[in-house]
Order: sequence, then C-alpha cells, then structure tokens
Amino acid sequence: MKILVAVKRVVDFNVKVRVKSDGTGVDIANVKMSMNPFDEIAVEEAVRLKEKGAATEIIAVSCGDAKCQETLRTAMAIGADRGILVETTEELQPLAVAKLLKALVDKEQPGLIILGKQAIDDDANQTGQMLAALADLPQATFASKVEVAGDKVNVTREVDGGLETISLSVPAVITTDLRLNEPRYVTLPNIMKAKKKQLDIVKPEDLGVDVKPRLKTLKVSEPPKRGAGIKVPDVATLVDKLKNEAKVI
Ligand code: AMP
Repeated sequence: MKILVAVKRVVDFNVKVRVKSDGTGVDIANVKMSMNPFDEIAVEEAVRLKEKGAATEIIAVSCGDAKCQETLRTAMAIGADRGILVETTEELQPLAVAKLLKALVDKEQPGLIILGKQAIDDDANQTGQMLAALADLPQATFASKVEVAGDKVNVTREVDGGLETISLSVPAVITTDLRLNEPRYVTLPNIMKAKKKQLDIVKPEDLGVDVKPRLKTLKVSEPPKRGAGIKVPDVATLVDKLKNEAKVI
C-alpha cells in the first residue's frame, strides 16, 4: 500500500508573525520557514506504518513555490521515499490544494492519504475534508491513533469528552491531531540520504487544475494589545473584581 502525505511549508511555529502595515497579510520576508507541525506528525505516522510492514512506499507532496523542495527534503529525511512538488507562485487556498492532491491521488492510487488537521498559517482546517469530498473517499479527521487491519484502517479520534474509534475501508483520508505521535529527530545521515531521493516537479496545468484564488482576504489585523495586570491585596478584592469588573463569576 502506498501512502501519500501532504506537507506544507509555513512560517516556523516559534516565529512571532508581524502583520504588514497595509493589513494585506503577514510579513514573511526573511522569516524562518518550516514544515507545518501537523504534517511532520503525518510523515512520522506514515513512516511508522511502513516500519510495521503496513505500507510499501511513502510519497510526500508539497504545493507552492520552489522553496517547498526544502520541506520535501525534510519529509524524505524523516523517511518518505520520494517527493512531488506541485510548483506555482500563485497564492494557494485549501480548495486549490485539495484539487491538486485529488489529481495526484488519481495518478498514484495511494491506500492512505495523510494530511495535517490544519496548517498553522491559515488555520483553515479544510484541505483534508475537501480532498475526501472531491475524491469520494472516507475520512477520519483529528486522528490520535491509526491502525491498519487488512483492507480496513481503524482510527481513534479525540472528540468532546472522550475518544471515538472508527473503521474505514481503504483508500481513505486521515488528518492528524497533535497527540498521534512525536516525530523523530532528523539525523544528518538521513538528511544526506534524502538529497539523493527522487523529487519530481509538476505544474498545476500538468494536473489540469485551475488554482486561482476563489476567496479574497479583506483585512488582516493584529490581536488587541493586552493591558497590564494588577496586584490585588486580598482574595475578597479578587472575587469582587472577577464578579463586578470582569463579570466572569
Ligand atoms: P488547511 O486546510 O490549510 O488548514 O491545511 C490542512 C492540511 O492540508 C495541512 O496540514 C497539509 O497537510 C495540507 N496542505 C494544505 N496546504 C498545503 C500545501 N500548499 N501543500 C501541501 N499540503 C498542504
């Protein structure tokens, strides 16, 4: 069984993002970029499934500009066998990415497609669900455990107040939650090995997909500044302030 994993290049989670002064977006000039953390978890899970003998090949896919090759090399250093870059400089929205992935699913026929539950830059939480709909595949979102059993895959999901385990027939789409696994550290020998792995580059036109944005961002703004805290002399004052000023109790 092949596994296709989607990996997005995003602003590193440690970076404090700055909103552009004209409010059109976030400034990413000279900012450290990394693989979306949920996608690292997706690659790690695919590699663990391969190590258990449940998968034969892992293909990492990234959509975006030429620099996404770095993200694909990281995926290959974690253990993906090859990479595909869908190269474009156009701004990609979740629907466009879902259509590109659908075209690659048709071509590669993977048994599992694993994505992150959300990209930490747009926080959309849409691509996996849209892909499942477009490809007419069963989906398990927010996975915290994945077990392949024959032609079925059992996925445990974190839901309000507990865990839900569902069984899907493959092929299927899975999106990863934070507690699915802890991705391994990428070692230098594996980084070197990854440089030699196959990386194919295709354009959206080659896949017959129109990636033009369908949504327009009207405005991006900073969160309101937090006011300074105060010290209260005693518990009674604290309770009074919570009741009458903050009105939270
Ligand atoms: P989103 O729907 O934007 O929150 O993204 C959810 C997941 O879709 C991400 O964690 C990735 O696995 C995948 N994804 C989104 N955008 C891209 C992209 N440009 N290239 C590859 N994968 C992507």
